[in-house]
Amino acid sequence: MFEHPLPLTIKPVKLARQEGKLTGFMPLKQLVNLAADCVSDEGRVEADLELRMERSRPELHGSANAAVKLVCQRCLEPVDVKVEVNIALGFVQTETQMAELPESLEPFVLEEEEIPLAELLEQELILALPIVAYHDACEPYPYEGKEEAEAAVADEKPNPFAVLEQLKGNLKKPD
Ligand SMILES: [Zn+2]
Repeated sequence: MFEHPLPLTIKPVKLARQEGKLTGFMPLKQLVNLAADCVSDEGRVEADLELRMERSRPELHGSANAAVKLVCQRCLEPVDVKVEVNIALGFVQTETQMAELPESLEPFVLEEEEIPLAELLEQELILALPIVAYHDACEPYPYEGKEEAEAAVADEKPNPFAVLEQLKGNLKKPD
């Protein structure tokens, strides 16, 4: 497990010129869009990345993983899921650069000199999330029992329209 936090932002071109390395972790909370796809924003992302110039193109290579919680599709409780991705990105700034990018590299469109690292990691990790997640062993969620329980609760509640009528009556000003 990596003990050093990853930087919040990076300058890909500068880092690639320096043959920089990015090794560390980032709390899942910082990857807002990835966390939105999970049950909670507790968890962390780790990355081990290297940047370098290939001809005049900044590239990023390495791997990242995330430990997140998704909803188990069998019991509907949170299930721990580990996602791992290999990353091979080419930073591009123009359409020509995009067109020239080898197929082995995924494009990352660089609009600013400095970018949030979370944005880059999210782009990779969200695509790697499983469409459905399950515990290795768990009991199916008791749908029928739940519906009966909800129906029983609904019977006890006052009719919402009746409550509304009552409110309206209270709000009505005397003539
Ligand atoms: Zn389950």
